[in-house]
Amino acid sequence: MYTQLLIDGRWRDSADKKRFDVINPATGDVIAQVASAAPADALEACDSAATAQPGWAAKSPRERSAILMDCHEILIEHSQEIADLIINENGKPQADALGEVSYAAEFLRWNAEEAARLHGSFGVAPAGDKRMIVSRPPVGVVLMITPWNFPAAMITRKVAPALAAGNTVVVKPAKDTPLTALLVGKLLEDAGVPAGVMNIVPTYSAGEWFEAAVTHRAVRMVSFTGSTGVGRTLLRHSAKRVLKTAMELGGNAPFIVFADADLDATVEGAMIAKMRHSAQTCTAANRFFVETPIYHEFVERFSETMQAVTLGNGFDPDVTCGPLINAAAVARVDDLVDKALQDGAKRIIGHGRSDGKGFFYDPTVLVDVDVSSPITEHEIFGPVAPMIPFSDTDRMVEAANDTEMGLIAYVYTQDLARGLGVAESLEAGMVGVNRAAVSDAAAPFGGMKQSGLGREGASEGLYEFCETQYIAANW
Ligand code: NAP
Repeated sequence: MYTQLLIDGRWRDSADKKRFDVINPATGDVIAQVASAAPADALEACDSAATAQPGWAAKSPRERSAILMDCHEILIEHSQEIADLIINENGKPQADALGEVSYAAEFLRWNAEEAARLHGSFGVAPAGDKRMIVSRPPVGVVLMITPWNFPAAMITRKVAPALAAGNTVVVKPAKDTPLTALLVGKLLEDAGVPAGVMNIVPTYSAGEWFEAAVTHRAVRMVSFTGSTGVGRTLLRHSAKRVLKTAMELGGNAPFIVFADADLDATVEGAMIAKMRHSAQTCTAANRFFVETPIYHEFVERFSETMQAVTLGNGFDPDVTCGPLINAAAVARVDDLVDKALQDGAKRIIGHGRSDGKGFFYDPTVLVDVDVSSPITEHEIFGPVAPMIPFSDTDRMVEAANDTEMGLIAYVYTQDLARGLGVAESLEAGMVGVNRAAVSDAAAPFGGMKQSGLGREGASEGLYEFCETQYIAANW
């Protein structure tokens, strides 16, 4: 296990020698103690990225592309090792952990392919008085702050396009899952990423760390994935230096089921949208709107499938749902369920939190949920499915949009015209129509409203890490 900071190609302890515990959420056991970067380490990591940036940007696109392709290959070769570490510190089941590694690696491959196609444009001005040359130089040094729910993929989704475009980066992974980040850093270094191009600095003091790093003169951009609340704080600090920002924030996804939907496919999709990665994804279905003619049948079939979920340690091959990330997450989910019950909902399956070791919450289905109960306004981030019947499509769409979030929505119907029409009326950056797994390195991932600013993946994700320079020329 790598437990030190990676700065300028060297592994070392933090300036003040402090360390913090990393806990396996399935057992509650401490699995490692990781160096906790102090503000001085944050600044040194930024220095290192600043020194490395001109050399990295000067490499030909083909050279950067070849290194990123080697990074993809090394991640694939080490899939099991990375997945084991993800299970150890995040708790997700094996299939999800391996799925995350291949998703993480795909960002490296896709951006390796794109590195050589990062074109600008050329044109003649409408008045014919000048030539207009538009190019896409790198932004420079980018601070990256990532969450614990995808300890590998949320890093490569940022690092791959940033490096493809010629930037250098300082990554601060979540304190719950720094080990995967450090292993990915080691592998990328082995694959040929030069010293200083990717610096990894876990810390137990995220606020202090960020407030120091963001003052560094070379830092030009902040790329964040995490909660909307923390995103607002980072935007406030970034505004002081008018930094470019990319924000991938929280969700509150509606999962809409029309009466004509293929029920087998819908239940399967609902399980994916709700339960993948132990129900702790920003894309997780948070509110189920089900048309009244099939409400009872859908609830019954979905509940049966939820009851068949095997809760436990992700290392057990039979387990299909792991623990929540920590004790605070269990308390938060429990509180949302309690409030929903007080507001009139009924729990038809689920026994709440488990008493034993680890941070487990029993898969739960709630019916007759009041649309104004906090459970419909907040991200649940746990295996709880609130069911809401509807009979009027316009009012259902209004309710689905009645949230400050707008990351993703799901629509299930066999009438494709209706599915696409409803998709267009939903205020969400992404919509799955008869499809619950939408993420793809080649697709623009991101949200509307308070779910974020900018996109990750696709050309949009690559351009986030580019400036635009326009040269007006005569010859
Ligand atoms: P979080 O609490 O916002 O933390 C995310 C990251 O921000 C962590 O590295 C955290 O460090 C750091 N952080 C916290 N306070 C900070 C501060 N004052 N200054 C600088 N950094 C700070 O989110 P989370 O609980 O890890 O992740 C779950 C959230 O992420 C959910 O809302 C989910 O929807 C969202 N998410 C969004 C996407 C997307 O693509 N839209 C993808 C995945 C997750 P610590 O670990 O030390 O707290």
